[in-house]
Amino acid sequence: MFNKLQDMDIRGKKIILRCDFNVPMKDGEILDDTKIKESLETIKYLIDNNCKIIILSHFGKIKTKSDLKRYTLVPIAKRLLKLITHEPDYEQTHVVFSNHTRSTALKDKIDSLRPQEILVVENTRFEDYPSKYESNCDLELAKFWASLGDIYVNDAFASSHRKHASTYGIPQFIPGCIGFLVQDELEAMDKYILHPEKPFSVIMGGAKLEDKIKIIKKLLPVCDNLLLTGGIANSFLKALNLNVGFSLVTKNADLIKEIQELLLQYKEKIVLPFDAVVGSSYDKNYAAHKRIDEISNDDIILDLGNTTIKKYTNIISKSKTVFVNGTAGKYEDARFANGTKMLLKALADSPTKVIVGGGDSVSAVKNFNHQDDFEYLFTGGGASLEYIANNTLPALEILKKKEENYEVLDI
Ligand code: ADP
Ligand code: MG
Repeated sequence: MFNKLQDMDIRGKKIILRCDFNVPMKDGEILDDTKIKESLETIKYLIDNNCKIIILSHFGKIKTKSDLKRYTLVPIAKRLLKLITHEPDYEQTHVVFSNHTRSTALKDKIDSLRPQEILVVENTRFEDYPSKYESNCDLELAKFWASLGDIYVNDAFASSHRKHASTYGIPQFIPGCIGFLVQDELEAMDKYILHPEKPFSVIMGGAKLEDKIKIIKKLLPVCDNLLLTGGIANSFLKALNLNVGFSLVTKNADLIKEIQELLLQYKEKIVLPFDAVVGSSYDKNYAAHKRIDEISNDDIILDLGNTTIKKYTNIISKSKTVFVNGTAGKYEDARFANGTKMLLKALADSPTKVIVGGGDSVSAVKNFNHQDDFEYLFTGGGASLEYIANNTLPALEILKKKEENYEVLDI
């Protein structure tokens, strides 16, 4: 359905490779280089095919002049150089950097690029200051970037829900395809989420119901159990007219109505918390265990209680596949991290296939050291969720094979 990298004639060509190098960084230090490591498979394949490789990526959001310093791709290009030259047979790889995103100097640099060399172009979002050329998909910019290469490869799944010049613009001008990382993510999505081994349970938590309602509606018909946690569960409890005090809930009355209907339609599948760890609206040091029917007006539900954890653990042990999205509580605060921690431990200890999606959920998995315990971690953040909800993403849609048009001749 998609044009795939391995099916393209790329030998010796100039390749525009869109990566997602939006890594977590603190004080100039890369905290986690997984995204860079994961790009190596595609990069090595391009090197093997004698290509000239031009890498584009965004990093952070560029709103002010000082962001131009803070979000330079220089440390990321340096890490890429280190990683690729540590790969056996790729020790000699050259990585050069262009601090221009659009100029004749950049064109000249590409003209002098030799086969198997990599050019990392500065942060595509530098084109967002002062005018949002990248984020508003300025077609002049896209055309310029397209003019730098022969073929476009999208290996930035996590950016593919955005219609930006570097994701959605460039492939309007040159032939495009999907790289190996995008292919992996799509295959995992298809295998584990759209065609899961049953019983299939979904543990859905996190903060905002507005972000998750589409995916909940998509997964309810296909899953056997929907275990609700986090802020999402609060809105469902409220929809049942239970008191949730000061807890995070949706303010959208239509949405509450919608979930009341879901609660009726899927009452055998939807499982809600029985107890909670609560904070208080007037005392930030307060933390107590309560049953949901004991919640008072000042309470804030911030984590799952032990009975709920036990009940959910039991359902996990009877599932063949579990998809987790959204943390079970306010896990950034150690007092409210237990639910997230215990559910992840139960998932790691059980033989069930576990797939985790969502930025915070994947970082919770890493925080609690379970990165090697699960079947698949989606790296795509919000894009993975949007793909599950809509079955497609704009920047991938544009890389689909064109169906051949057969004309029916009237003879
Ligand atoms: P993901 O990024 O994996 O999709 P979300 O962003 O939806 O996950 O959820 C993670 C966020 O949800 C965290 O910031 C966490 O603090 C918050 N959260 C979870 N449970 C609660 C709760 N009961 N009340 C307030 N915030 C919560
Ligand atoms: Mg999040």
